[in-house]
Amino acid sequence: MDALFAALIDAPPGIALTTLCWMVIGLVVGSFLNVVIHRIPVMLQRETDNFIAIERDEPEPHSGHYNLLFPRSACPACGHTLTAAENIPLVSWVWLRGRCRYCRAPISPRYPLVELLAALLSGCVVWRLGSDVNGLAGLLLVWTMLALSFIDLDTQFLPDDLTLPLLWVGLLFNLSATFTPLPDAVIGAAAGYLLLWLVYWGYRLFTGKEGMGYGDFKLLAALGAWLGWYMLPLIVLLSSAVGAVVGVLLILLRGHQRDKPIPFGPFLALAGFIALLYGQDIMDLWMQASHS
Ligand SMILES: [Zn+2]
Repeated sequence: MDALFAALIDAPPGIALTTLCWMVIGLVVGSFLNVVIHRIPVMLQRETDNFIAIERDEPEPHSGHYNLLFPRSACPACGHTLTAAENIPLVSWVWLRGRCRYCRAPISPRYPLVELLAALLSGCVVWRLGSDVNGLAGLLLVWTMLALSFIDLDTQFLPDDLTLPLLWVGLLFNLSATFTPLPDAVIGAAAGYLLLWLVYWGYRLFTGKEGMGYGDFKLLAALGAWLGWYMLPLIVLLSSAVGAVVGVLLILLRGHQRDKPIPFGPFLALAGFIALLYGQDIMDLWMQASHS
C-alpha cells in the first residue's frame, strides 16, 4: 500500500488524480458489493425454498420483494434502517466506531474491509491498465471476482448468476480483442472449464473426495474467456501454489480439519487478478528464461 502511495506521489498529476478518483469510486462500488455478497446467497435460497414449496403444492415460504435494491440496508440486530449518513463507505463505520447508532450492536469489520479492498484493487487496475476500455473492463472483472471470493468464503459456493454472465461479458469484450483475440478467448473458456473438470474427476477417482466445485470450473472458464487460453497454466499454477500454502498454514495454525474443503474461488480470483495486471510480463520473463 505504501508503494502504491509512493508511486502516486511520483506520477504525473493526471494519472495520479484519475487513480485516486477511481479509488473513491471503488469505495462506493465496494459498498454495493457488500450488498451483493450478503444478498445473492439469500436470494438463491429463497428461490429454492419457494420452488420446492410450489412442487409440493404448499404455500410459498418467502413473499415480498427481496433483491439487490430492496429492502434498504438495516441493522441486522435491531432492524433500524440505515440513513444516508450511516451508509457512507468506510467513513460511517469509522465514525460509528463499528457499532449500530441505535442498539450499539457491533457491525462486522468485513464491510469496511470489502470497501477498502475494492478501492485498492480499483486503484491498481486503473494505474496499470488506464481508464479507457481496458481499464473499465478490468474493473468490472475485478469487482465481480471480489464479490465471488467473499460469497465462496461464506457459502463454499460460486453462483452461476455471477460466473456465467462474467464469462459472456469477457467474450463480448474480446469481440474487439480488448484483452485477447476472440478465438483465444473462446478456446480459453472451453479449456478453462475442461482443465478443472479433469482435475476434479482425477482427484475424485484417486481419493474418492471432491476437491472443488463446479463453480470453480466456471470461474476458470470465465478467466479463460477474459484473458485467453495461454494465461490458464499461469492462473492454475499461481492459484494452486497460494492455495496449498494457505491450506497448510490453516492446518498448522488453526487446526483446520484436513478433510474440510477450503474454498478455491478466492485463489482463482487472486491469480486472475495477477494475470490481468502482470500476466503478459510474467509470460515474457518465462519465455526469456526458457530461451536463455
Ligand atoms: Zn441496531
